Formats: sequence, structure tokens, C-alpha cells
Amino acid sequence: MKEACGVVGIVAPGRSVAHLCIDSLYALQHRGQESAGVATFDGESIRLVKDNGLVSSVFTEHNVLMLGGDAGIGHTRYATSGLANWTAAQPVIRYSGAHGIALGHNGNLTNTEMLADKAGILPGMMLSDSDLIAELLSHRVDDGDSVVDALDHVLPTLEGAYSLVVMDGTTIHGVRDPHGFRPLCIGRLGTDDAPEGWVLASESPALDVIGASFVREVLPGELVTISPLGVSARQLMPPSSDREKLCIFEFVYFARPDTYLMGHQVHTARRRMGERLASQSRVEADLVMGVPDSGVPAAEGFAAASGIPFGYGLVKNRYIGRSFIAPDQRARANAVRRKLNPLRENIAGKRLVVVDDSIVRGTTTRALVAMLRDAGAAEVHLRISSPPLMWPCYYGIDLPTRDELLAANLSVPEIRDYLGCDSLEYITLPNLRAAIQLDGECCDACLTGNYPSTTPVSLGLWGDRR
Ligand code: SF4
Repeated sequence: MKEACGVVGIVAPGRSVAHLCIDSLYALQHRGQESAGVATFDGESIRLVKDNGLVSSVFTEHNVLMLGGDAGIGHTRYATSGLANWTAAQPVIRYSGAHGIALGHNGNLTNTEMLADKAGILPGMMLSDSDLIAELLSHRVDDGDSVVDALDHVLPTLEGAYSLVVMDGTTIHGVRDPHGFRPLCIGRLGTDDAPEGWVLASESPALDVIGASFVREVLPGELVTISPLGVSARQLMPPSSDREKLCIFEFVYFARPDTYLMGHQVHTARRRMGERLASQSRVEADLVMGVPDSGVPAAEGFAAASGIPFGYGLVKNRYIGRSFIAPDQRARANAVRRKLNPLRENIAGKRLVVVDDSIVRGTTTRALVAMLRDAGAAEVHLRISSPPLMWPCYYGIDLPTRDELLAANLSVPEIRDYLGCDSLEYITLPNLRAAIQLDGECCDACLTGNYPSTTPVSLGLWGDRR
């Protein structure tokens, strides 16, 4: 599974906004490792640095000097829509209006083709759905609208998932789609009495690293505007229902463990997932271990609840990026060995409970089980902190079609046999919800097939990928 993107927007007069944006992007690197970029407004025009690669390789002391100004937005990208090359890296820029527009997008639209068609834009002219949003805004601004008017007009026509930051001079607008599929939060630099600036960011650690304090999350359908004058907010679109539809996999896998989402720290929620998994069925074992990184908190929770000792059984190579794209099944299986190596003395002869966050195609999990057995594990009991993935995602997560999703094609006993483990248990959806301490407010469409918003299939734009 691949994340969508990370966004940040900062207005801080007198501070080096470019450096603040870059520091925040380091904290959002896990959300996209294909490209990174920062655009600032220097008082006259937009300055832009973007390139393919990690934040650490895109920005240099030299090119950051070009990024002057009191306002800026930043982006880390994993392409879930459109091209994956330099031109599609974000922020996306349009030179419309007095100051131009710069835009960063996390999510995926579901009605891209319809929007393009309605605006008379030829298929293939847009680099991505984010590029299309920028184009639609610039059309309105070229016709005389202010950027705010353009947002008021264009945003309600978008369907699917979007958390956006849009820079208009020294003003930055942040908005979440009416379902709130992707996160976005507000932070403050300085103190309550003497604010020094305002921040919008995908996850709260992007605030922590620059010394900003968390204020609150942007609400679904809400438009938040930050400028040198302060912060303001209004409900641009009514929320899709009473309940937010934040992606449940933000809790399971995507978000950093130190992120707060809907008032819950992700690490704590993951620990509770492990506790719930342990309560679902008893297993006799000698060691509980997590698959790094997101499986580890759940493994700790499983160990605490089951009384089986927790330990480390795998070492992760941190220099293999999540952006590594394996071209076929065999390469995906080899990718496990590139990323993970067993701690043989910890696992030889032991009955292991191995906790992981998800099984997608099963190729890597199968290779992992084989690797643990080769290293001498006496038994391998797999515990998965998400229910079986059965349906594709249209809201910004790169999940394969149903043909390739293991759980869409095999029963749990068949999956256990395919993976070669001694036992297999997925957390149930009620237990996952209980672990997050939510009352059904998340999107869980890839688990249930209940899509809370339109999909390209329901709109008749794509053939049925189910
Ligand atoms: S379909 Fe799944 S991955 Fe996509 S937004 Fe919903 S919960 Fe997240």
C-alpha cells in the first residue's frame, strides 16, 4: 500500500518560511517519497523549488536561498493519479490573477474526467487531478474571480478525496473535502497571546518539528484561511453527513505513530489494535514480534494483553525507501529481503506471533513467513491489525484491483495455506473500530465495499474494477 501525499502551508512574517516548510516536509516524508517541492510568495511573485526524490535530496542550501517570502506551501508526493515524473511534482503553479496560484493536494478525485470534459479540457492535457484543480481555479481567476470566489465555485464541483493548501500571495487557504478522507490540521507559531504565524499540515508532527502548537483539525468541508492578519474559518461545504469519513488506514498504517487524528494518538490506537487481536483468540507462543514499523505498536499491545513476551525478530533497512516499486511478484518477494532481515538468535526454535498491519497481494507476507522459517522459527502465527482488504480504493491510496487482492479471492484458511503460516487471524472490523475508539466515523470501503462517496465506477467513468 502506498500513501497519497503530504501537504503543508505556512504564513509567518519575519521567519524563514521556506526552511519551516522544508522541516515540516521531513515530518511528512512517509506520505510520499517520489517528489517534493516548496513554493513561496516573495512579495511579487511565486518562487518554486521541486524535484523528484526525497526532501533531503531536493533541497540544497543554494536553492533554498531562492525561496524568499513570508508565506509558503510544501508537498511530498506519491503519485496515485496522473504522471509520476518531474512535471507532475507539486506544488502546482498557475500564473493567474495578481499573485498567481500555488496548490498542493493530498487525495484523489473521482470525477476528474467529468470535470475536464465540462471545462473543455482535452483528455491527457492534465498532468494529474491536482493539476486539473489548479486549472479550474485559474480559469475562474482569469475570468475575473478572486481566488476565494474561485474556490467557492470550484470546490463544490469536486468529488472524491482532497485536502488542499492553496497559496494566493501571502494568504493560504486550507480545505478538506466534505467527507474528510485525508487529514489536515491547524497549528500556531508563537503563543496564544502573541502568535508569530499559522500553519496548515497533513499531520501534527509537521507542527511539532517547527515548534508550532496544535490548534485543531480542519473540519470536513471547512475552508481555513491563514494570512499575516491571522486565521479565519468557514464551512464552505456542508459535511457529507454527521460523521467524518477519515480513511481508517491512516490509523492502521499511513499516519506517523506520533500523529493525533480525531483526538487520538495513532500509536495508542495501534497498541489497542494488538490488545483486541489478542483477545480474539488464544495462541500458545514464546515471542510476539511486530513487522517494522507500523506492526510494532500492535505487537506490543498483543504481548501486553496475552502475557507472551514481546521481542524484536526483524531488523529493517531504513535506507530502502517506501518508493521502491517492484515490477513483478518475484521482485516484490525479493523486496522483503532487501528491507527486512531476521534476528536469528531471537527467533530460532521459537513459536512466534508475528503482527503486521495488512496483507495486500500476499507476496511479501509469504516471503516473510518463509524467511522466518529459514531463520529457524518453530511456528509462525500471523496476526493482522486490519480486516481483510477486499475492495479497491478510489480516494488516494494505491491499492490493486480485486483480481490482485488476496482476500478478495481466497478464504482465510486458504490464505493461511498460501502464506505457509501455522495460524492466521485478522482483527474484526468492530474490534478495529473499538481500538480507534470511534463510533463508525471512518471510511472503511476497502474492507466493506461501502463507498461513502462516488467512485469513477459509480459515475460510469471507468469499467467495473471489482
Ligand atoms: S477505501 Fe480504504 S484506503 Fe481508501 S480511503 Fe477508504 S479506508 Fe482508506
